[in-house]
This record gives sequence, C-alpha cells and structure tokens, in this order.
Amino acid sequence: CGIVGFYGKHSAKDIILEGLSALEYRGYDSSGIAVIDEHEDLKCIKEKGRLKVLEETVQESGLDGHIGIGHTRWATHGVPSKENAHPHLNSEGTIAVVHNGIIENYLELKHELIEKGYIFVSDTDTEVVAHLIDLYDEGDFESAVYKTLDRLKGAYALGIISSKYPDTLIATRKESPLVVGVKGNEYVIASDIPALLGFTRDVYYMDNNEVIIAQKGQLRIQDLEGNVVSKTLTHIDWDT
Ligand code: GLU
Repeated sequence: CGIVGFYGKHSAKDIILEGLSALEYRGYDSSGIAVIDEHEDLKCIKEKGRLKVLEETVQESGLDGHIGIGHTRWATHGVPSKENAHPHLNSEGTIAVVHNGIIENYLELKHELIEKGYIFVSDTDTEVVAHLIDLYDEGDFESAVYKTLDRLKGAYALGIISSKYPDTLIATRKESPLVVGVKGNEYVIASDIPALLGFTRDVYYMDNNEVIIAQKGQLRIQDLEGNVVSKTLTHIDWDT
C-alpha cells in the first residue's frame, strides 16, 4: 500500500525505513525491503505484521546499500504472508519489484511465464512483473522494463532495481500515486509526500505513464515512447 525507493550517497536502508514508517497511516499487513549492497548483490528482507519487526530484522542483518526499494503491503491477491510480501524477485534473485495496485491480466501472464519455465513462489499479481523483466532483459534494463510495461494491464506504481544494473533505479505509475523527491544527485521515490519529507522538500509529482530513471547520479523522466518529459519541481512548504 506504500512504496519507497532511494538512490544516492546516503544509506538506502535508513531512508526507506523512515519513508515506510511515514506511510504507515495508509495501512498494511506486511512489509519488505531490497537493496543492492557494496558487493553488487541484491539483498531482500520481508516480514508479516508490524513494520517494527521488519526494522529489527533489517538492523540485525546489517543489510544496507545506496540503492533500494521498500514496500508496505495491503493484500489484494494472495493472503498476508512473508512469501506474498514485497519486494518480489526473479528466480535468480537479481531483480526486485515493489508494486501498489492491481495487475489485472496477471493470470494470463502467469500462465505464459509458467509455460516458459518460470517458477512462482507467491500468490500475488505482482510477481509476474519480476519474471517479465527477467524474460525481456537482453542486456538493457530500461528496455526490459519498457517491454514489461507494454504487457501490463491495470493500476500500478512500481519501483524496480536489478543487481545487474547496480546504478539504476526505475519507477513508474499508472492510476496509483507516485512522487519523486530530489536533493542534489540523490533521489527518493514514494507513494506520498510524507515519506520523503525527512530527506527533501523538492519533489516532482508524477503523471500517469511517466517513467523515472535515476541512473549514475542523473534523473530522467520519460514517457512510454522514451521521450524525455520536462517537469517542474515543486517545493513543499507545509508540515505533516
Ligand atoms: N496487488 C499487490 C498485492 O496484493 C499489491 C498490493 C498493494 O498495493 O499493497 O500484493
């Protein structure tokens, strides 16, 4: 029900956990976080229940990095459980996806992927997204995500990272809210403003079908044809 992502110099874990706790008001039944660590490995931790439990597990694990995504889930497809909590990964564990919303054609996509040999470990609609990106990844992360978006029907805000591309965070939205906070060359994506106020007050409000690519310290916002969209930064001067 809430997503947060970070790419920059700071600790991704700290900013994501702080952001998720600011989104607690939206309600959730489980939560999770994935980061790419200093060895360029993707590490993921999920827990059912209170965010506090996730925070404790994450602190004990030492998980951290400079790029990551986190999620609080309000189950729509699949019971609240650790397996169904986000992030969802491809089988290799290199791609991680967080999602708010509903992928309406997930069953059809799931059958197609199962026929191709993909193995599913959750009952969510979201897991198809991780496997589709895996399927379409031929050495270009951005194009794998674009090909995947082309297949999805429904409502979504998505945050995506891949340890094969450790310097890239991709996010997009369609009928689910998403904002991007900017501070210098560091970026936070989130479902709602309160999640990033601890880090920055300069934000872009994303429109439907815009894709954010934070890569090598630069931010690009594109449409579904890959054209750069120029947007106006909004300064938030209210307090939560
Ligand atoms: N439909 C997804 C699920 O059930 C996402 C739910 C949400 O927005 O939290 O896992």
